[in-house]
Amino acid sequence: MQISFPQPVLRVALPVPLRQFFDYLAIDNDINPQPGMRVQVDFGRRKMIGVIVDVVDKSDLPLEKLSSVIAYPDEGQTVLSEETLELLKWCWRYYKHAPGEVVFNALPPLLRKIGGSIPPPPMQYSLTVTGKERLNEPPGRIKAQFRLLEEIRSGAVTGSQLRLVSSSWRKTLARLMEQQWVASEARKAARLDPTKGPQLLDEQQLALEGISKTLGKFHSHLLDGVTGSGKTEVYLRLLERVLKQGGQALLLVPEIGLTPQLLSRFKKRLGFEPVVTHSGLSEGLRLKAWAMAKSGLARLVIGTRSALFLPMPDLQMIILDEEHDASFKQQDGFRYSSRDVAVKRAAGLGVPVVLGTATPSLETFNNAANGRYSWHRLRQRATGAAEPRWRVLDLIQQTMTAGISSTAMKSIGETLAKGEQALIFLNRRGYAPVILCHECGWYAACQRCDAHMTWHKATRKLLCHHCDSGARVPEMCPDCGADALQAAGEGTEQLEQILGTAFPETPLLRFDRDTVRKKGEFDRLSEQVKAGESCLLVGTQMLAKGHHFPQVTLVVIVNLDQALYSADFRALERMGQLMVQVAGRAGRDQLPGVVILQTHYPQHEVLHTLLSSGYEAFASEVSVERQLTCLPPFSYQALLRSDAHEKEEVRAFLNQAKQCFPAGDAMVYGPFPAMMERRSGRTRWYLLVQAGSRAPLHRQLDEWVPQLKSLPAARKVRWAVDVDPQDY
Ligand code: ADP
Ligand code: ZN
Ligand code: ZN
Repeated sequence: MQISFPQPVLRVALPVPLRQFFDYLAIDNDINPQPGMRVQVDFGRRKMIGVIVDVVDKSDLPLEKLSSVIAYPDEGQTVLSEETLELLKWCWRYYKHAPGEVVFNALPPLLRKIGGSIPPPPMQYSLTVTGKERLNEPPGRIKAQFRLLEEIRSGAVTGSQLRLVSSSWRKTLARLMEQQWVASEARKAARLDPTKGPQLLDEQQLALEGISKTLGKFHSHLLDGVTGSGKTEVYLRLLERVLKQGGQALLLVPEIGLTPQLLSRFKKRLGFEPVVTHSGLSEGLRLKAWAMAKSGLARLVIGTRSALFLPMPDLQMIILDEEHDASFKQQDGFRYSSRDVAVKRAAGLGVPVVLGTATPSLETFNNAANGRYSWHRLRQRATGAAEPRWRVLDLIQQTMTAGISSTAMKSIGETLAKGEQALIFLNRRGYAPVILCHECGWYAACQRCDAHMTWHKATRKLLCHHCDSGARVPEMCPDCGADALQAAGEGTEQLEQILGTAFPETPLLRFDRDTVRKKGEFDRLSEQVKAGESCLLVGTQMLAKGHHFPQVTLVVIVNLDQALYSADFRALERMGQLMVQVAGRAGRDQLPGVVILQTHYPQHEVLHTLLSSGYEAFASEVSVERQLTCLPPFSYQALLRSDAHEKEEVRAFLNQAKQCFPAGDAMVYGPFPAMMERRSGRTRWYLLVQAGSRAPLHRQLDEWVPQLKSLPAARKVRWAVDVDPQDY
């Protein structure tokens, strides 16, 4: 029964893992509560920040059970616009996730906490007439003030520019304003001041026109361009158009794609500094970027996944670069695909969205193939460089040194002798993935995961790459005591050692998470590569992304064979993407490139298609297989994931959950153990829900998920729903 209330009832989202909202009474003051405003409330014994999602006039709870909110920390301002709230509403319904967590995911961290507040609008400063006159006189005793005046005269207008003069700039500035030597006003948006780019190639021009035609309405575009085909150049032209007509634009890039090179290219071409945001920034800077976006001062925001939810009142275009990249899917907590939510956001706003890549995900590929997305192909490299040539080495016929065949070694030598660069790709860091005893067969396994410990020789450590547990490398076999421990397989650290011995004169740069820890380190290394001297690059997939190394003329792919026969149906797709991306690093300039692929399966059909006919043919072939086996994107999936210390608890929960799965077109399968059943000491299993179309899947999930928390076994496990899962 619902009864009416004297005060408005505020339906509030709180950052708790519960699938519900919480009702509070408005307080009687001059603030008119609205959806999107923050509130401070009592929750149990804690005080918390919440966000109003709805204002209603009744509650399911009786009046005496409702408490009033404590305060509205932002006075009358909202932190979520109607548009963002609508998008978030779609998110929590679609992803079946606790709505409070979905809402809070969209806020900068400082606004999630008590004490954080919306920063005042940024100001800009200018000299007054008397200020200019003061500069004509000698500084006298006011040296600090004088310096700041001079700085403003020479063009510093914002707080962040003045901060460079002195850390006490605020105090000094306050004096200058008291004297009326300096005036302040609200900061204006940066002016677009583009420099001319190159003459576009026909394919680029066509893509630009095709996409521009849809400005002002919702439309999805796939910009499918081989590496170096000038996709970024097309983005720049699009952004110019959007910004020129007063719009804001959002460019999302993968986690590793946000490099100083990219930013300086945008700055140089557009003539102003884009606002950048990603989860590695300090909370203060993230809040600042958020406020700039919200006020419209940020005309262009470049950011990673989390930037998708920034408030942008004039947003007119969303671009997602490297749309196939796995970092666009958030893999824990609120699991969502920023690619799919970006398309949803564009639809809600009625603006175009551009997905760019050389290797479309099969989801996007099929959306383009069936005409839902416009498909713009760029098949020529913009610099006129030829596509790299593939050479397949059958490992059966090769002698090997630490994973590198003698033929590959010879080619590396020849490349270096010509003064060129070679890139050796192996997607495994450390010295060796396994350390084992040749007497008794013991090997170092992680105690907490179903995984080998990776041997890191330089640091004399065994490390689990899944849970980060570490141990010392034993001297002798811990099982039989024999002095017979050996490496099995190889990682980048070992390649570095072998290649360093083989080519002692050549500088060798290793790119992996062990050598590139700090920000900036990647850029330092890649600057060295770009300087153009002959060198060897050894690295993991870190090398496959974004960077152009014009002097690299040889790429050796050491081993990707596991993917050919993996239990994960997406492994083949990912392998194809990785191969094409790595190969794309080679020969981007005038020098032709060669890519050597070492494999035990040179006859593998799909691999053959990829090498002989390219990614599009490969993707079509993989699609046919998916279609025949009814796998995504030709079916729709969701997982109910669960983990606990004990396997029996997980299985009991999933079995109970399966029992109450509602009847319909979507079917439930399992329970199955996760691909890595034990991880970080927990046993992980899942149920798979699959349907031929989306509607029944969602209908049944909506009926099912709310029941799960009251299952008897639910208290003993952790569980989560993953809609459109990417891993298993
Ligand atoms: P992608 O983003 O597809 O990898 P880029 O936009 O980075 O490609 O272009 C690759 C290189 O080609 C860059 O150095 C870029 O400046 C250059 N480039 C792009 N378009 C043209 C063009 N139309 N004419 C000449 N050079 C171009
Ligand atoms: Zn042993
Ligand atoms: Zn582990």
